[in-house]
Amino acid sequence: MFSLLQSEFTKSSSKLSEMPVDGLPEFAFIGRSNVGKSSLINLLTKRKSLAKISSVPGKTQLINHFKLLTDRKKLPEVYFVDLPGYGFAKTSKTQKAKFTPMITNYVTKAPRLVNLFLLIDIRHVDQKIDHEFIEYLGVKGIPFTIVLTKADKLSKNQQAASAAQLRKILRKDWEEVPTMLQTSTLKKSGGEEVYEYIDEVLNDLA
Ligand code: GDP
Repeated sequence: MFSLLQSEFTKSSSKLSEMPVDGLPEFAFIGRSNVGKSSLINLLTKRKSLAKISSVPGKTQLINHFKLLTDRKKLPEVYFVDLPGYGFAKTSKTQKAKFTPMITNYVTKAPRLVNLFLLIDIRHVDQKIDHEFIEYLGVKGIPFTIVLTKADKLSKNQQAASAAQLRKILRKDWEEVPTMLQTSTLKKSGGEEVYEYIDEVLNDLA
């Protein structure tokens, strides 16, 4: 396992052509607005507000790159890529945009995207929009991992029940259920498992 030595904000981009071109492996984070994406990125980068915690759903419409320096021998540097939240649960129902071109362009065309972390609130694992996005990722063959966020909101038994419910839904479409991790930024738990997963992915690349 590796340790994080340093993390920094690199840049915000509104399109693919503006993104960093140094070819470092990219781990992207996505989910419904308010799922806890900024909080998780802050936990993982050990920074209080590297990714801003916004209270306005759907507001962030830029793609943010954060560079991490680790003590790994091979591939010590990676990017975390903070994608805009999808869905507009708290705004107008007529708001049609779901997966904006910025999101679909990034996930289908980013040359160094090695894994997408799809965040799902552990209390709401059956949301249509998440399952539509999972289907989209499957169709496009994009590697992803599910992160169940806000685990502290449920008891241990309820957490297990939620994970089982999600696995059951996924088994309908997936021969092999995608990897599922669980985090709580409140309890600062689950970050190590995300790191371990990143380490494995990087080892497979090297
Ligand atoms: P984003 O919109 O996906 O970036 O979500 P944020 O990180 O801004 O978080 C949305 C809200 O959920 C904020 O009020 C956070 O404090 C809260 N939150 C995020 N992660 C957790 C968690 O693990 N546990 C609890 N209880 N609340 C969380």
